[in-house]
Amino acid sequence: MKAEIITIGTELLLGEIADTNTCVIARALRDIGVNLFRTTTIGDNPERITHAIRESIHRAQVIITTGGLGPTVDDPTRAAVACALDLSLEFKPDLWIEIQRYFNRLGRTAMPNNRRQAYLPHGAIPIPNTVGTAPGFIAETDQAIVISLPGVPAEMQVLLVKSVLPYLQSKFKLHEVIKSRIVRTAGIGESIIDNRIDDLEHLENPTVGLAAHAGCVDIRIAAKADNEDQAKSMLDTIETLLRERLGDKIYGVNDESLKKAAIDAVTKRDWHLAVIESGTSGALAAALSTDPDSFSGGVILRKGLSLEQLDTNLGKFRAIFAAEVWIGIVLNHSKKEYELGIILHSPDGTLRQDSSFGGPPESANHRAANIALDFLRRKI
Ligand code: ATP
Ligand code: MG
Repeated sequence: MKAEIITIGTELLLGEIADTNTCVIARALRDIGVNLFRTTTIGDNPERITHAIRESIHRAQVIITTGGLGPTVDDPTRAAVACALDLSLEFKPDLWIEIQRYFNRLGRTAMPNNRRQAYLPHGAIPIPNTVGTAPGFIAETDQAIVISLPGVPAEMQVLLVKSVLPYLQSKFKLHEVIKSRIVRTAGIGESIIDNRIDDLEHLENPTVGLAAHAGCVDIRIAAKADNEDQAKSMLDTIETLLRERLGDKIYGVNDESLKKAAIDAVTKRDWHLAVIESGTSGALAAALSTDPDSFSGGVILRKGLSLEQLDTNLGKFRAIFAAEVWIGIVLNHSKKEYELGIILHSPDGTLRQDSSFGGPPESANHRAANIALDFLRRKI
């Protein structure tokens, strides 16, 4: 079974709001094993919506739309779906009662234009909306199944989880589960990882893919199986292989952050950490400042210092911050590259690392902070 999503709203096309509904629906479909082949965004225009639905019907059995179900004439989805499926719109008295009840519960009265929301394509199954006025619906025909949900993300999500997903699972006897895990690495480039795990990236199930961020690379594993345990064991197998090949370049999985890995390394030794930085606009201190228990504080010096100058300054601050571990970083921009110097003082001694990197200026500070956190977690 193939599915498509059509999000409806001119404000989406104008870039005024981000299309979060597509992401939420796509993930939900992935998790119940539905193959999503294409997504479309279209403005509030009945002819164009009809056309988009008709196109999708040629490719997919299930089309999920969001938006355009409000009570105004500008809310064209009901009519467009009916037109695309060659159905008439019919008034649903029960639905109208539901809508009026919703208003009554809020101490308000439904307006005559809300009556528009009680019209559905002929034969469509209404999806009651307990958190808003716009009901959704499922229109099943020989050509395709069109499921229309309200645009407001919170309402859309309730209808999706409570009604749409169970409907799809029972209708298409979907027993498969898809589970994913993100294995997080730092201090190793995307192309080196790609070289080492090339064979895994070609697997069909589980799938393995890379996503690079500032100084870090995430490896996403997704497994499709008959049940949760089987999917988990498939993920475990791949994670073990990744750990064999990438060793301590892996700092965590899923929500485990690089910052947490660095902080954990320091707290494990019962130490406290302070930072001194130049040229990074305080990016390292900003990353660490959410952990006041182990983070004693940071000093931000003017940019353009050498690592030696920074280190000389350190003496002045030692007395102020009660920290056993100090990490100093200096970021300087030369021609095309950024040059990063790191110095780490701990009761175990002093370590130094110089490195350089390219990339966009917007992410340079963040990247420098990540490289320093990675150095910290591995060297403490
Ligand atoms: P309503 O009854 O509230 O009018 P509706 O089904 O007509 O519901 P829209 O008017 O299209 O929905 O959208 C309502 C609001 O929901 C939009 O102003 C926007 O803030 C948000 N919204 C709509 N579509 C999306 C989307 N794809 N992603 C994120 N937010 C969206
Ligand atoms: Mg609307």
